[in-house]
Amino acid sequence: MAQRMTGGCKCGLVRYQGIRLAVPMFRCHCRDCQQLTGSGHSDMVPLAIEGFVISDTVKTYEMPGGSGQSTFSGFCPNCGSQLTRNSQRMSDRIYVHAASLDNPSSYQPEKSIYSGSAQPWDEAAIIKEQ
Ligand SMILES: [Zn+2]
Ligand SMILES: [Zn+2]
Repeated sequence: MAQRMTGGCKCGLVRYQGIRLAVPMFRCHCRDCQQLTGSGHSDMVPLAIEGFVISDTVKTYEMPGGSGQSTFSGFCPNCGSQLTRNSQRMSDRIYVHAASLDNPSSYQPEKSIYSGSAQPWDEAAIIKEQ
C-alpha cells in the first residue's frame, strides 16, 4: 500500500508530498547533519523520488558527499526550515526531515547511522540495532 506523506516548512512557503519508500526510517549523526540542523542529528524519512513534488520556492544547497558525489539539502529561503536531503548516489529516493511532516508522529526510526560521529551529549539518542 502506497503511503502518501505531506509536509512543509514553518512559514508555509514550501510544501511537499510524496510516497513512502519501503526502506527504514533512520537517525543520522554525521557532522553534516549536525551543522545543517544545529542539533545532534537528523531524523529522516525516505520517500520515492518518483512522484515527489515540492514547491519551486525551495532552495537547495549542494555539498560534496562522502563518495565524492554531490549531496543536496533543501530548505525554506524564508524561515530556514530544513526539509529534504538527497544525493546523486541514491537517486531513487529523497529524505524528508521527520519533524517537517504534517504528521510527525508517523516517524518510526529503526536505526542510527554514523553513530560514531555522535557528540557525547547526544549519545542517548543513538538507536541500537535490534
Ligand atoms: Zn518557510
Ligand atoms: Zn547525516
